Amino acid sequence: MSVEVALKVALQYQRARGRGRRTGFVALRGGYHGDTLGAMSVCDPVDGMHADFPDYVPAQQFLPRPPRAWREGGDLVSDPAEVAQWIAEAEQIVARAADEVAGIIVEPVLQGAGGMFAYAPEALVALRGWATAYDLVLIADEIATGFGRTGRFFGCDWAAVVPDVMCVGKALTGGTMTLGAVVVSTAVAEVIGASEHRALLHGPTFMGNPLACAVATASIDLVTRSWATDVPRIEAALSAALAPAADLAVVAEVRVLGAVGVIELTEPVEIPLVTRAALERGVWVRPFRRLVYTMPPYVCTDADIAVIGAGMIGAVAHVHGGVTR
Ligand SMILES: *Cc1c(COP(=O)(O)O)cnc(C)c1O
Repeated sequence: MSVEVALKVALQYQRARGRGRRTGFVALRGGYHGDTLGAMSVCDPVDGMHADFPDYVPAQQFLPRPPRAWREGGDLVSDPAEVAQWIAEAEQIVARAADEVAGIIVEPVLQGAGGMFAYAPEALVALRGWATAYDLVLIADEIATGFGRTGRFFGCDWAAVVPDVMCVGKALTGGTMTLGAVVVSTAVAEVIGASEHRALLHGPTFMGNPLACAVATASIDLVTRSWATDVPRIEAALSAALAPAADLAVVAEVRVLGAVGVIELTEPVEIPLVTRAALERGVWVRPFRRLVYTMPPYVCTDADIAVIGAGMIGAVAHVHGGVTR
């Protein structure tokens, strides 16, 4: 729901600026922003649900997926030539769309449900530049990446980019209670505050629910105290635990970014069978497409991570064959 509100913030901002024709959005191919109507429209146009709700999903402008990035030392690196090519291509699309779109929405650095795909931080820097140049609202959907998950406190921190609007959810309450929030820059908030309506046109019954907010503040206290040691520790433990998967012939790639571990197969995962096989090894996973992945809670010990990694690998080998290279 946070994404719905963020889109409304961008639309209301543009109207307040006298640019009511700016009603669309720019998004990335491969993105995922949720299942509600507005959010669906900015999800990947092929893998999303556009075709299933054609009359309710407005057409948006999509940029190609930015070049992939991988961990090297403390950095998140990518191929500079691919980055330059992406920037050239994306810049044209944004320039052409600028008069008709209110904002740009992205999952910073890691596309989650769209494939657990890490991409070049330089792409975020470029998007920030275009958003500023055309006065578009840059929305960072940090629902999956926020609170340390990728190894920086926010995904945007990999690129030292400050968005105009940030969506948070999921880890906001440590995954224990339903709560989302939209964080808006003072500049954008002031434009909306000075507009005809003087306020954001949004106010559901349970907005700011005190119980959920109490859970969130308690969780944020815990996370801010320990994430900077927990996440690198989990990253190292995940790298070690998942490394043996690379020996399986059915495994295309093993990748780890912060507290996210992914085993990508060369074929679609037999989802019910792998889920069951992992459960039998004491591990609950939710594979999709060719991916078996984990985003473990930061309280996991190294021993827990070893169990998770062994369970994932064991399940893949059991169902898809344990043949090694
Ligand atoms: C899960 C997710 C959402 C959707 O959040 P809900 O609270 O389920 O609506 C949006 N964006 C990203 C990046 C997510 O991972």
